[in-house]
Formats: sequence, structure tokens, C-alpha cells
Amino acid sequence: MTAKIIDGKAIAQEIRADLAKHVAQLTAQGNTPGLTVVLVGDNPASKVYVRSKQRACEEAGINSTVHRLAEETTQEELLDLITQLNADSTVHGILVQLPLPGHLNEEEVINAILPEKDVDGFHPINVGKLQIGAGGFVPCTPAGILELVKRTEVPIAGQNVVVLGRSNIVGKPVATLFLQENATVTICHSRTKDVAAEARRADILIAAVGRPKLVKRDWVKPGAVVIDVGINRVNGKIVGDVDFEEVKEVAGAITPVPGGVGPMTIAMLLKATVEAAARG
Ligand code: NAP
Repeated sequence: MTAKIIDGKAIAQEIRADLAKHVAQLTAQGNTPGLTVVLVGDNPASKVYVRSKQRACEEAGINSTVHRLAEETTQEELLDLITQLNADSTVHGILVQLPLPGHLNEEEVINAILPEKDVDGFHPINVGKLQIGAGGFVPCTPAGILELVKRTEVPIAGQNVVVLGRSNIVGKPVATLFLQENATVTICHSRTKDVAAEARRADILIAAVGRPKLVKRDWVKPGAVVIDVGINRVNGKIVGDVDFEEVKEVAGAITPVPGGVGPMTIAMLLKATVEAAARG
């Protein structure tokens, strides 16, 4: 059996085309959605991410502004900028590109963003809202993963979902989202006794560990849906956390890297920005 390849790029493109129509309606009402990205320092990967977010915004008709700040920016300067952006009614979404340089306090910066503008869903108010199912912004990668699985028309309720990784930006929130969809969710991490055995029980396996090709063929139940979140640079090439060539022979459906979860993350960021503008 060869797995169906889940084309995240095509699905993200559909979502972005729908969003562009919504943006046009809001613009006609004089309320063009606006996303402001704050980039501190010279991290090359961050620069690439910010450029693709900006391009995607422009394509959808969303106003995008990038504040590029020097590596030596102080905490006070950064917090002052966040205060200004919070007060600016043309800015509906604020995204501070992580990681920040080591001398800056990420937690304090995220806490300074108004929860209504926190389109990344990292503010503790939004994290708490996600836990109790009270709306609010959801981190973009987990939101994109759920959307991918839904659009693939895979059943979720009652299924065993196994999440590899427990980070605040992917593992924990994606586990919460699938729990809310009535899946039975297991979260694995570096101290899990037998990760392969847990993974083999999954109907839907989500790998977010940052270890190239960790998930092998014998970790996957035949017919399972495998979502590969990993982005690992190996010899100048990007590979996921799943050994794609092996696992596609046993899985029912699988996301490629690149072209799976990555494009969905950006589509969800745009969606959150449009929602923030529509809420007014
Ligand atoms: P992270 O903060 O480094 O967390 C990694 C998690 O994996 C941790 O919970 C860690 O356990 C666990 N882990 C590490 N080795 C393991 C092993 N051998 N078995 C089981 N669990 C293990 O990473 P992250 O930010 O969640 O990102 C994960 C991956 O997704 C990275 O490759 C990242 O680049 C990628 N990513 C992609 C997107 C996208 O848009 N596609 C977005 C975000 C992240 P402990 O907690 O015990 O240390």
C-alpha cells in the first residue's frame, strides 16, 4: 500500500483564496486587515519565515508591516513598540517572530501583546481559553494541522491520536485541539518509556519533535494518518521528523516536508488576522 499524500500546499492555497475574498469585503467596508510582524536581530531562518508571511499577506490583500529591529534592541524599546502597536487601530494582528535574541525576555514580550491582537495564540489568556474551549486565538501550526486532517476527511472522534512532542507551540495545543474533537489523545516526550509502541497505537500520528526521520516504518500502524510537523535542516536539505520514504509504504495518508504542515501555518496566521479585523 502507498499512502495518499496530503497536499498541504494546495489546501493552504484554497484557504488563502477564500480569505482573499473575505479581505476584499472588509476592505470595501474600510477595514483592511493589518498584520504587523516584529523581527529582532539577524536569525536567517526567521528572516525567511517573515518574508514568506509578508508575501502571503500581500497576495491576500492584507496590509503587512515588518518592524526590523537591531540585534541589540533593549527590552524597553521592544515593549514600547508593542505598546504603540496595541494602540494602533489599523493593526489587527501582532506577531513577534521567535526566537528573540538571548538578552530579551520572550515571556514578558508576549504578555505585553493585547490578547485580541495575539494572532499567534501564545498569550496566556489565549492559552487558557484554548484549554477551556472558550474561543480566542489558537497557535497557527496546531490550527493548521487540525484543518489539514479535517479537509482530508479523516474521522477524528473516537480515534487514537498520538502526539510526539509537548512544546507550548505545537505538541500541547495540538493535543488539546484533538481532545476537543473527541479523539483519545496520548502525548509522548523525551521521557516516554517506549515511544515507538505508543506511536503504533495511533490512528492519527502527529510528529513534532525536531529529530530528522525519527519515525520509522515499524512505528506506524498500517493505514494510519501521519502528520509530520518537523523542519530539520540536514546537509542543506529540509527533512521532517518522519522517514517519509519508508512510512509512505505503510501509512494510509501522510504529509510531505516541505509542502505539508508548513504552508498551513501561514494560512492560519492570515485567517487569524482576518478574524481579528472582522471582530473589529
Ligand atoms: P521543541 O520545543 O524542541 O519540542 C520538541 C519536543 O519533542 C519536546 O517536547 C521533546 O521532549 C520531544 N522529544 C525530543 N526528542 C524526542 C524523542 N526522541 N522522542 C519523543 N519525544 C521527543 O520543538 P517544537 O518547537 O515543538 O518543534 C518541533 C518540530 O516542529 C521542529 O522540527 C520544528 O522546526 C517544527 N516546527 C514546524 C512548524 C511548521 O510550521 N511546520 C512550526 C513549528 C515547529 P521534552 O519535552 O521531554 O524535551
